[in-house]
Amino acid sequence: MKEEQIYSGKAKTIYRTDDPKKLIAHFRNSLTAFDGKKKSEAPKKGYYNAQISKKIFEMLESEGIRTHFIEMVSDTEMLIDAVEIIKIEVIVRNIAAGSITRKYPIEEKTHFKNPIIVFDLKSDEYGDPMLNDDIAVALGVATYEEMEKIRIIALRINRFLVEYMDKVGLLLPDFKLEFGRKDGDIILADEISCDTCRLWDKKTGQSMDKDIFRFDKGDLLKAYEEVARRIVPDIFE
Ligand code: UDP
Repeated sequence: MKEEQIYSGKAKTIYRTDDPKKLIAHFRNSLTAFDGKKKSEAPKKGYYNAQISKKIFEMLESEGIRTHFIEMVSDTEMLIDAVEIIKIEVIVRNIAAGSITRKYPIEEKTHFKNPIIVFDLKSDEYGDPMLNDDIAVALGVATYEEMEKIRIIALRINRFLVEYMDKVGLLLPDFKLEFGRKDGDIILADEISCDTCRLWDKKTGQSMDKDIFRFDKGDLLKAYEEVARRIVPDIFE
């Protein structure tokens, strides 16, 4: 039973349920970029992202990676475990794109020999500054043990996703993960979707993710739909 809204982020709204251990995440059609400076709405975006996220969470669970996903309660709403969100954005990079090419002398499209993991503090006020383990511990956002666990899980997720995306004809330059604490464990939270991953078509190299919106690179919905066709073909039957 969906009860009152407890939080509304940039693309999802979180509701309480009659069970204090469970919440509902509603994937909305709103889009934001550049710290909320650019905003828009895209019909069906919430639907595609919810369905893509669901499928990826289910596959990760089958790989033995715990996630907050329980079940879908509608096309755009998922029942999730209530977790204590760790205030860190975990970015995993395989190919150089986006901010790393602006901040460091690295050419776009450089393939990294080893994946790069970057931790950013989740803080709009401070512009999501980069963290290392010592800063994370000093700020009280995570323990050393948690940072190590997060790193290991993020690398496992990356190994699985790179291989999976390759099978559906997509490159995975980078993506963002968020984790939460539940019963003394660290579990994957938030979403994995076209909003939080860079996905490039293997053949054409074209962006099939939120970069289309960020940089006005074409038809966002067509690209999200195409990603959904490859990852969740059953929803089109
Ligand atoms: N990302 C995200 N939310 C954020 C910041 C980044 O989902 O608040 C994702 C983004 O979609 C990309 C990856 O994390 O897949 C790396 O983003 P980057 O640091 O390059 O930032 P950007 O270039 O998008 O500003």
